[in-house]
Amino acid sequence: MINQVMNKIKPEISGQKAFNHVAEVSQHHRIQASPGYRNAAFYCRNVFRDSKVRVKIDSYKADHDTAYWTNKLWDEWDCTSATLDILGEEPLRLCDYQAEKMCIIQRSIATPEGGVKGPIIYLEKGDSEEHYEDIDFTGALVLSDGDWNKVRAWAVEKRGAVGIISFRMLEFPPVRHRFDIADAIMYTSFWWTGTEKKTFGFALSPKQGDWLKDKCLQQKEKHAKGKADSPYIMAEAHVDAKLYPGFIENVNAFIPGQTMEEILITAHLCHPQASANDNASGVSVALEAARALQKLIDEGVLEKPRRGIRFLLIPEFTGTYAYLSDNENRIPRTLAGLNLDMVGENQALTNSSLLVEYPPQASGSFVGDLMAEVLTQLASEAKNIAGTASYGLFRYALSPFSGGSDHYITSDPTVGIPSPMLIQWPDKFYHTSADTLDKVDPDMLYRVGVMTATYAYVMAMLNEEDAAWVLNLQGYHYYNRANELIKNLPVKAQLLEEKVRIELFKELEANLEYLYQLKIVEMNDLLRFMPRYKRRTNSLIRAKLTEFKAFNQNALRNVANTLGLPRKLEQEEVKEDKSPVPIRLFRGPFSARGYVEMFSEEIQKEYKELGEKHPSMRGALSQFVYWIDGKRSLNEIIELTKKETGMDVSAYAEDYLNILHKMDLIDWAK
Ligand SMILES: [Zn+2]
Repeated sequence: MINQVMNKIKPEISGQKAFNHVAEVSQHHRIQASPGYRNAAFYCRNVFRDSKVRVKIDSYKADHDTAYWTNKLWDEWDCTSATLDILGEEPLRLCDYQAEKMCIIQRSIATPEGGVKGPIIYLEKGDSEEHYEDIDFTGALVLSDGDWNKVRAWAVEKRGAVGIISFRMLEFPPVRHRFDIADAIMYTSFWWTGTEKKTFGFALSPKQGDWLKDKCLQQKEKHAKGKADSPYIMAEAHVDAKLYPGFIENVNAFIPGQTMEEILITAHLCHPQASANDNASGVSVALEAARALQKLIDEGVLEKPRRGIRFLLIPEFTGTYAYLSDNENRIPRTLAGLNLDMVGENQALTNSSLLVEYPPQASGSFVGDLMAEVLTQLASEAKNIAGTASYGLFRYALSPFSGGSDHYITSDPTVGIPSPMLIQWPDKFYHTSADTLDKVDPDMLYRVGVMTATYAYVMAMLNEEDAAWVLNLQGYHYYNRANELIKNLPVKAQLLEEKVRIELFKELEANLEYLYQLKIVEMNDLLRFMPRYKRRTNSLIRAKLTEFKAFNQNALRNVANTLGLPRKLEQEEVKEDKSPVPIRLFRGPFSARGYVEMFSEEIQKEYKELGEKHPSMRGALSQFVYWIDGKRSLNEIIELTKKETGMDVSAYAEDYLNILHKMDLIDWAK
């Protein structure tokens, strides 16, 4: 079915049309809750309209008193101009907002009437306060390549500094070191929670930052030698901006189906100008996929789908929270999702690969395997010399769930819209001023456009007749993963000590059993798409599971043989699991920013300290919380998280849930 649908879609999708949309969208400075974002939303609405796709704009309040589920909003921001000048014998303008929108820290507040003149103090010993006890920061602009949020929290909040100059550049080895993009400016923003002392700030490229840093150090030296009056360079800053209660907008387009059920395609529309790949590209692919599908349906090339297909262009995270909390009755009818984030990359320039990122395992769905198959079908672009095999002419890979975009909200089991993501990662220019139109490849937009439209339509049509091939697809991935586990046993394992061999065997047995348990849930997820002939589908699923079970038993028998172990090892006594059972009292992932600030100082401190104590926490925390279902014990959840991510969360799991308990987000079963 995938192939037939894809063949009908291919001639209609235009990479160039999508590219033209990227050119338009990327001209808007699309900060969430801002006039620039709103204008981009109007553009997208008009494109949907021109494509005869039903569309509306949903506005949601954006201010510090508003939250959608646990996601707190912030004020709307409007900036009209900003400049930063270095004063002295050789004056130099380092930032001009009208020329380069990323040269300020987004959501900066206005400088006082007439601007600010002050010394630049370079933080040469890092970004924490204890190294600067004897320095007077009053009225200063603080220059740092450290964490600007951290610097603001002490330098502005406690020590009287007036602004920040950041020249931070995050590195993603091996594709990006700061010197790889020395002229680019990193996307930096304040994310106000409402309680802090607000300020303004500028962002410089590594090259500008290094230059200014050297100038500051030279001045200090001159002063020490008595050749200058002041140890500091002077600068003048002007920012004209305002923060006020406002709105965010979701562009909500819909191709109706024959039933009330829906498939949901999301792409975030926010980010600074230009952010061409992140994520004008995802938005543009959604616009083009919707146009093509609507046209093919109108012309009768594709029949009217069973399920509706909704395209949601949102400010990242906040818009998805707002949509879901506003449409709770529609969530159960929304059977699956797909998120598009950074899809248009020119791979030669950005060093990226196109990834199909699976939904988290706790979402228990087959849709990741289905998306992977769409990729496989697409990736047959060229043939070998004899014409006997074909393959794709771009880099691609499958990735387990990693999060970091809107699919992490929809895929949460408390929402239940399992959503893979298409993304290109890593990207040398990610979140910098160099993420511009010239890094976007119309051919990639075409590929992802075909994949998006194909996936959306196949999911919208999936029914009882598809059970067999979807199950075979699941089988393919099951055997792949099971074989990978077996393949990864150490070479010459039979020569290892008996104790080690037994451990290896038991681990393999447990991992195969985990895979099997996952597949039970994933295959049963098919039933949501196939309410008719349930008995038939059920028996197909059971047959497949019997096949998997037999495979596991065979494999284990062979491995036991190789390792010189009896097939049935003595069973260890199962320890009684006395760990508590957590219950989630909130929907969607917990969104801490701004939310924790609503609680006591003590809770805020606890929350902050736990994160600082366990910097690796972010890696598996979402997956950990997804597994909480009110039935599994804490130990079981920790074990499942380990199986899924390879990360052990036991050092902080209970403490984390206890803090959430204090915020009435978690309860413990009696
Ligand atoms: Zn981004």
